[in-house]
Amino acid sequence: MALEKIDPTTLDAEHTVVVATGNAHKLVEIEEILGAALPGTRFVAIGQLGDFDDPEETGTTFAQNAIIKAEAAVAETGFAAVADDSGLMVDALDGEPGVYSARYAGVHGNDAANNEKLLAKLEGVEDARRTARFASAIAFIEPSGLVTMGEGFCEGMIGREGRGDHGFGYDPLFLPNDTPGKTMAELEPQEKNAISHRFHALQDLCAKLGAGMTAGEDAVPDKGTASDTSGAEGTAL
Ligand code: IMP
Repeated sequence: MALEKIDPTTLDAEHTVVVATGNAHKLVEIEEILGAALPGTRFVAIGQLGDFDDPEETGTTFAQNAIIKAEAAVAETGFAAVADDSGLMVDALDGEPGVYSARYAGVHGNDAANNEKLLAKLEGVEDARRTARFASAIAFIEPSGLVTMGEGFCEGMIGREGRGDHGFGYDPLFLPNDTPGKTMAELEPQEKNAISHRFHALQDLCAKLGAGMTAGEDAVPDKGTASDTSGAEGTAL
């Protein structure tokens, strides 16, 4: 889905939030959920405002990478920005692939190779030890530099073979606890969106923004130590 270009000078800075994603579906999802906490706000994808290079995701946690992306978008556009970073954490692999989820098998975004590597790593691991979760961190950064974080999880287990045609990434291998017997890739998009890690992270962010909570009172006391983000004990979100 190609998004229309927008002249940034036509936007009202007070009521604009840039979404640091090239994914039109994420834009809609973020708009639908965050719009409730920020009424009257126009959400625009960063690519609609110009051609910007993606910053390097050098963080060791999802929270750090979300902040890197949102900070870059604020610096490039001058508007408030929101960015998410997510991935899969498998207990039997000590949280792997984690922040390397997109490039687990070496090439960024090669879902088939990533899934194959995951299955190989879990060969011989019994069902009870195949527990895993998708994790998502979302950073909302205002032009003043104020950071508000949301975090969310989707608990489940890793199957023994891929099933389903929907979604992306590790969806064919991931069996959410919320939908017994079905992989994430066997869910309709709206079913996935109702239980996903991103949905929960957006809801968390929405609640904090609605309550007027910002970094001063919340989870990111120091942007440099975002791995200290609370609420995800042991998962280094
Ligand atoms: P991103 O931060 O949303 O770009 O996600 C990074 C990587 O994590 C993706 O390339 C996928 O491998 C994995 N991932 C994140 N969210 C999902 C999901 O909802 N389903 C399947 N894989 C996901």
